[in-house]
This record gives sequence, C-alpha cells and structure tokens, in this order.
Amino acid sequence: MLQKTPITVAYGDGIGPEIMEATLRILDAAGAAISPEVIEIGEKVYLQGNTSGIDQKAWSSLRKTKVFLKAPITTPLGTGYKSLNVTIRKTLGLFANVRPCLSLHPFVATKHPKLDVVIIRENEEDVYAGIEHQQSADVVQCLKLITRPGCEKIIRYAFEYARAYGRKKVTCLTKNNIMKLTDGLFYQVFQEIGAHYPEIAKEHQIIDIGAALLADKPEKYDVVVTLNLYGDIISDIVAQIAGSVGFAGSANIGDHCTMFEAIHGSAPDIAGKNIANPSGLLQGAIMMLMHIGQREVASTIQNAWLATLENGIHTADIYRPGISKLNVGTQQFADAVIENL
Ligand code: NAD
Repeated sequence: MLQKTPITVAYGDGIGPEIMEATLRILDAAGAAISPEVIEIGEKVYLQGNTSGIDQKAWSSLRKTKVFLKAPITTPLGTGYKSLNVTIRKTLGLFANVRPCLSLHPFVATKHPKLDVVIIRENEEDVYAGIEHQQSADVVQCLKLITRPGCEKIIRYAFEYARAYGRKKVTCLTKNNIMKLTDGLFYQVFQEIGAHYPEIAKEHQIIDIGAALLADKPEKYDVVVTLNLYGDIISDIVAQIAGSVGFAGSANIGDHCTMFEAIHGSAPDIAGKNIANPSGLLQGAIMMLMHIGQREVASTIQNAWLATLENGIHTADIYRPGISKLNVGTQQFADAVIENL
C-alpha cells in the first residue's frame, strides 16, 4: 500500500464545488494515495472582509503540503480586490503554467482532428505582475514587467519539457515588433537558450498572426512558449477549438510548490446546475498524480476518462447529436468514469 501524499484542496467558487466533488470521487475510486487537506479560499473569504481572499491557515497548509489541487475561484470585479490566482502563483513561485490541449477526434466534435498542442505560459511576470495605478482622474497605468531570469526560467522549461516528452518543435509567440524591450528580451532569450537544443526545431511568430494561425491550423504547432497574458488567452482558444474550454487542465510548476487546476474559470452562469464538465479539473488532477509519482493510478484514470468519452457519454458542453450517445450531468459523468476504472 502506497503511503498517502498530503495535498491541499480548495473547492473554489461557482462550479468549483461540483467539479471538485466529481474529481475527488474518481480519484478515491481509483485508489489514489492522497490525503486531502481542505482550505477555504475565494468568494467566502472575501465576503468575510479579507480582501486577499486567503487566510494564514490556508497559506500554512500550502507551504506544508507543497501540492495544491484547486477548483476555479471567482475574482470579484472592482477596486480593492487583487486576483487571488495571480497572488497564489506569485507567492508560491509557480513560474510555469503548462496547458496541454488534445483533440479526441472522432469521439469529441472538433474541426481540428490532429490538434495536440502544449502551451507553456510564463506565470509570474508581464502585465499580470500587478503593478497598476491611477495616474490622474483620466489616466490609469499598468506596468509590463519582464526580467531576464524570468525569461530564462520559462524558456528553458519549455525546451526541457519538449525534450522530456519527445516533442519536435517549440514556437515562441511575442509582439517584439512593437514591444521591442519587453517582448524583445523574451525573444532574445528564446534564441539564446534554443541554441542549446539543436534537436528541437524553433520558430518565432508575432502573436497576432501566430494566434490566428494557431486557431486555423493548430496541427502545425507542437509546444508553444509565450508571455503570461498571451498564454492565458491562446490557451482558452486552443482548448475551445479542441472541443471545449471545460476540457483542458493546467499544471502550475515552481521550484518548491505546484498547483493543478482546470484552465477555465468558475462559470457562474452554470453553477449549481450539475451540467459543468469536470474534465479540466480531472486532467489537472491526473497531472498532479504524475507529479507525486502515482503514474499507474494516473494512467488508469486517464484511460477510464477516455473510454467514457469514446462511449459517447458527454456533458452538455461537448454533446453533439450524431457523435454523442448520452447527455449527462457532472456527477453522472464521474459515475461513468468510475465504472470504467
Ligand atoms: P469561465 O471560464 O468561467 O467561463 C466561460 C464560459 O465557458 C462560460 O459560458 C462557462 O459556462 C463555460 N465553461 C467554463 N467551464 C466550463 C465547464 N467546466 N463545463 C462547461 N462549460 C464551462 O470564464 P468567465 O465567465 O470569464 O469567468 C468567471 C469567473 O472565473 C471570473 O470571476 C474569473 O475571474 C474567474 N476565473 C478563474 C480562473 C481560475 O480560478 N483559475 C480562471 C479564469 C477565470
């Protein structure tokens, strides 16, 4: 019997509790050796008057377990609230955000049957560094922060990832024609570090045409490395054209801590209806199991998930008459995955 690995779990906001319940039930049924420590973060904590959305007890758990499985959280709109997602990524030093997107043609409807792209997004810098202020009544300012060590870390990570997973090409997307210093530095570091990986093809595209081509011909891309904001946007696009934004998981990797989640948000429009697709969070959880050394149980769950989709048991976001067989809710989808374990 494997020793249980302590992990920190947050049920999050909106659809968070539903998809976390579904995910943990699957992990439990598959025999994942984890011992979850539940923390409260997000909306409920904001409403108690804590504008950071997270308290000291939650930080202690994260610093102790160093592995975080997190459901999406709602970021309150308006002044005074910083994004808790950004705070967690920065505080725990989670510099790389890895977002694999894969087409499951012909079982899940997509116009891009050969799509298999891993987006590696810088996760701590850029306009997300949180330096934004009011200059005057009519002028507000946001600072785009890019550092050489930050670029080196993420670009080396992308090439090491490509090498470890046998990927053939790394594409760098920047806007270095306009942002010559910030995006220019990212591209310069890409060229310098890329030179140490002769077996991997390298290409660079300006983000606007890169995003258009990625949406049109995703099969031409393999690993994509890019800055924080661009990566956030294009990963939603690529997940959506692979089938659904509810489909992709993400690993946030740091030197000491890691966080695993879905790429999508808390989807308040469908919260509490038992219709959300739990697949994104489940994919995050599978990456977590791989990370903590439970590869066997990770692949058992992955295979059961694939079998469920192949059997046409689909949540509403991916349900298409003719391809799908049964339109199921969040918990019924989890039950079907459990039956296939
Ligand atoms: P969203 O990703 O929550 O939803 C966008 C659309 O996709 C909605 O129509 C939603 O119903 C649908 N969708 C999302 N996940 C789905 C799923 N699993 N199954 C089926 N359909 C799904 O984006 P949004 O509405 O712009 O943001 C809502 C909130 O989430 C905001 O407060 C935002 O800040 C937050 N957010 C959090 C995270 C995170 O916690 N990592 C990430 C992105 C957004």
